[in-house]
Amino acid sequence: MSSAEDRPLRQDDLPGPESNPRLGLTGFVSETPAAALAPLGPEERAALERAVSLLAGRRLAVLTGAGLSTDSGIPDYRGPTSVPRNPMTYQQFVGDEVLRRRYWARNHVGWRHLRRADPNAGHAAVARLEQRGLLSGLITQNVDKLHSAAGSTRVIDLHGTFDRVVCLQCSSTFPRSRIAEILEGLNPGYLERESDAGDVAPDADADVDDTGDFVMAPCPVCGGMLKPDFVYFGENVPKDRVAEAYALVDGAEGLLVAGSSLTVMSGLRFVRHAFKAGKPVVIINRGWTRGDEFASLKIEAGVSEALTYLADELPDLPD
Ligand SMILES: [Zn+2]
Repeated sequence: MSSAEDRPLRQDDLPGPESNPRLGLTGFVSETPAAALAPLGPEERAALERAVSLLAGRRLAVLTGAGLSTDSGIPDYRGPTSVPRNPMTYQQFVGDEVLRRRYWARNHVGWRHLRRADPNAGHAAVARLEQRGLLSGLITQNVDKLHSAAGSTRVIDLHGTFDRVVCLQCSSTFPRSRIAEILEGLNPGYLERESDAGDVAPDADADVDDTGDFVMAPCPVCGGMLKPDFVYFGENVPKDRVAEAYALVDGAEGLLVAGSSLTVMSGLRFVRHAFKAGKPVVIINRGWTRGDEFASLKIEAGVSEALTYLADELPDLPD
């Protein structure tokens, strides 16, 4: 259930198909790209000072959503200024070949855009919080892997990742790049025709119309139906992944939510869990969220700016 996002196109300068170009080219982001940050207003600063008082001395779990990646050029379809979008459901994907073909065609164009996105100051700040020993870990609803690219290591990709494909029949998984090569062989010239796709969603869904003759790839192992390995609307997050995320929240003394409107239960349940355990919940998000009633503090501020402030100002934990 991906919410959604976009990114600027660049020259195709990708290294070998199995490597993650962001990890190779960007490495560990430890310095904040200050130029990208807007100055904090007095109200934002006051709210952040309160957040520091609330969270100081506590090990934190962090939960992030699409709002964290907008500064990386990936649009948030649930943000205050965004156009609503209805991603395909799991039931549509498996049940309707026309829709499935359309989905794969659009994903074939769109996934490359996600691959080329770079982490922003918000991702760098979260990585710095972990590096400083302040986090029990990170749960993200984003499939873009930008937290890992920024250097975060304890990451639960709640909704899966854009760079993997799973077979619904034999459960084999494949790097998205391998399936891309097969799809390119089956659809020569398709990418060149559609490379000007304008809008790309956070789930790699590109704005491509001419999808009728697109040839889908069967599973290289068993010939079964392939699906991008992230959680669709109408599909459950795998149980072991949910349990792992609850454990991460249980191992924390506070929950920091950044850039999510918490409209899907898959994320909201962790907010309720922390709330019920009496742990402070701080939400950074522009606009209403479904978790506001559980928040000890709600901060209406830019996510990158707010996280950078917290990574700078939260004190070290006592030994
Ligand atoms: Zn298979």
